[in-house]
Formats: sequence, C-alpha cells, structure tokens
Amino acid sequence: MIEQTFIMVKPDGLQRALVGEIIRRFENKGLKLVGLKLLALDRKMAEIHYEQLKDKPFFSSLLDFITSNPVVAMVWEADNAVYIGRKLVGPTRPNEADPGTIRGDFCINTQFNVIHASDSVENAKREIAIFFAPSELVRYERSIMHWLGLDL
Ligand code: UDP
Ligand code: MG
Repeated sequence: MIEQTFIMVKPDGLQRALVGEIIRRFENKGLKLVGLKLLALDRKMAEIHYEQLKDKPFFSSLLDFITSNPVVAMVWEADNAVYIGRKLVGPTRPNEADPGTIRGDFCINTQFNVIHASDSVENAKREIAIFFAPSELVRYERSIMHWLGLDL
C-alpha cells in the first residue's frame, strides 16, 4: 500500500552536512519526495512531535537538542514507506545499527543519531500533520523517459 513517512534530519545531521547524503539514500532506494522544508522547531512543536516520550528520562534533553538548531523535515512516499524508512535509518542506538544504515554509517551517540523516521503509519500521519499543511505535500508524476527527452 502506498504510504507516506515523516523523515527529519536532526540538528546534528544538518551541522555535519549530511542532508544531501540522506536525501540521496532515499532517492536511490526509490522513494518519492513529496514534502521538504528547512525549519527551526520551537519547544511546543518539539513536545508535540515527541509527546509519546514525555515520561522518558531523556525527554527534556531531547527537546533541548532538537530545538538547538534547524532541522530538515521531509515526507517520502512509497509502498511500505514507513518500514523502508526505518530500515534505511537503522535502530535507535547507533551501536546496534548495522553499517549500510544511516545511523550505522554516521553516528556513535544515541541522542545525536542524525535522523528521525516514523515508526508506524499512524505516527507518520500524526507527525506529517505537525510539520506540513496539506497544500505543502506536492502531487506529481515521475517519468524517467520524459525527463530524459526520450519519449518524443
Ligand atoms: N534518545 C535518547 N536516549 C535514549 C533513547 C532515545 O536521547 O535512550 C533520543 C534519540 O535521539 C532518539 C529520540 O530520542 O532518536 C527518539 O527516541 P525513540 O525511542 O523514538 O527512537 P527513534 O524512533 O528515533 O529510533
Ligand atoms: Mg521514535
């Protein structure tokens, strides 16, 4: 089933100039980019995004981190986009993330783990609605032959 997933390059990913690398991995895999923005989260927005973690000991530290610098918010679309997104990103703890995943390749620290990916279709819908107005999700067709000028 076609799904959308919410992907966010965290402040450490932006500072480390990993935005292009991360977008490349999602493009290479074949997902379709339907929403993209650079923004600074305010604390309220960060609290809503991470509301399911509000009782965790690391919650306030996580909010400090995620609001400390801008992030890049994206929506990617594909069959099973949520599952594929988590696979590309890897597990939460970078020392459990295999090489070949984004976290496995680029991080050491659990908080500074470069990227967020929705963990369920339901959470993806909730997270997308926090970051994007419906009009900011762009509908378009992709066709390689046309854009190579080969369908003439
Ligand atoms: N986090 C942390 N310490 C922990 C677990 C998580 O700082 O022990 C941070 C980390 O940045 C993680 C985020 O909190 O990505 C959200 O946690 P979650 O369990 O939802 O992990 P994710 O879904 O991002 O893999
Ligand atoms: Mg999560």
